[in-house]
Amino acid sequence: MSTTIAPQPGIMEIALYQGGASHVEGVSEVVKLSSNENPFGPSEAATEAFRRASYELHRYPSTDHAALRRAIGEVHGLDPERIICGVGSDEIIHFLCQCYAGPGDEVIHTEHGFAMYRISALAAGAAPVEVSERDRVTDVDAILAACTPRTKLVFIANPNNPTGTMIGGNELARLAAGLPEQAILVLDGAYAEYVEGYDGGAALVDMRQNVVMTRTFSKLYGLGGLRVGWGYGPKEIIDVLNRIRGPFNLSNAALATAEAAVRDQAYASKCRSENSRLRAWLAEALAEHGVPSDTSTANFILARFASQSEAEACDDYLKKQGLIVRRVAGYKLPNCLRITIGDEASCRRVAHAIGQFKGGAR
Ligand SMILES: *Cc1c(COP(=O)(O)O)cnc(C)c1O
Repeated sequence: MSTTIAPQPGIMEIALYQGGASHVEGVSEVVKLSSNENPFGPSEAATEAFRRASYELHRYPSTDHAALRRAIGEVHGLDPERIICGVGSDEIIHFLCQCYAGPGDEVIHTEHGFAMYRISALAAGAAPVEVSERDRVTDVDAILAACTPRTKLVFIANPNNPTGTMIGGNELARLAAGLPEQAILVLDGAYAEYVEGYDGGAALVDMRQNVVMTRTFSKLYGLGGLRVGWGYGPKEIIDVLNRIRGPFNLSNAALATAEAAVRDQAYASKCRSENSRLRAWLAEALAEHGVPSDTSTANFILARFASQSEAEACDDYLKKQGLIVRRVAGYKLPNCLRITIGDEASCRRVAHAIGQFKGGAR
């Protein structure tokens, strides 16, 4: 082994990302409720656009993503010039860290925040700073108190993953207004589409110079496998991010499929209301079995158990029935399991199995 070939500082502190499991040894009929995917998949219009793109595989894709940005702009009432598209919103998070944080800088994320913030901060050589939440809810005062002259980025997922909780517009505005001058507030709206009437923070972006919003096609639009996300922010910041964006970061197929998906708001709306209905049903069913959860605004619920060992025993029990949910000890929630809202049959199966587990049928 060479002693002089070494990665950049921070890289070796990154633990390899653990994705949601999708197989159970010896069980063929599994229901995957571990990655917050849309159980109904993408809209038929999106699938059709993907099929059509297969005839253009020899062509290089657009570098400026103009058609997709225009579609997003029309649907959300946003200026396409201030939209950037990436390989999932993960790539936008990465661009932000690479462009705005480096050695000596601090990147704030919340206690139970999404793993990518820490990974991207470390990849950029910056120091991730974890700030406590209040009963699994983003705590604006704690974040403001943690800011220093070195704070460059503050990441908030709203709704948050894996807690499912969110904070309101006044709190977001107070946070943006209270940050030190050199810091950018990033509002990760991966689950914003699930909240009726919520703009993901777009209006706050328009009102200020220090707020960026990220969004994704991976959740409500059912395109996690395609890898498309986007960001919306002040023109100056979007121009900076575009400098490090690979010119062909999104494929023809990704661009065309995402455009068709965002234009099919009738389907998006159907998925949103089905999710709300089943989420309310599942939360209540679990509560009746003695498993509480915070009111979720996303497409999953965070089920709380009495202890880590009970949560793990329940996870094992579910797994034996082919029901794959997510352990979240890595998010400092060892006594919880995150359960994606599946279709009606899956929700019923999960509720039934957890009822059996709690009833002592182990
Ligand atoms: C799923 C998720 C994303 C989306 O990631 P993509 O790269 O767009 O698939 C972003 N942030 C949070 C909090 C998420 O849970």
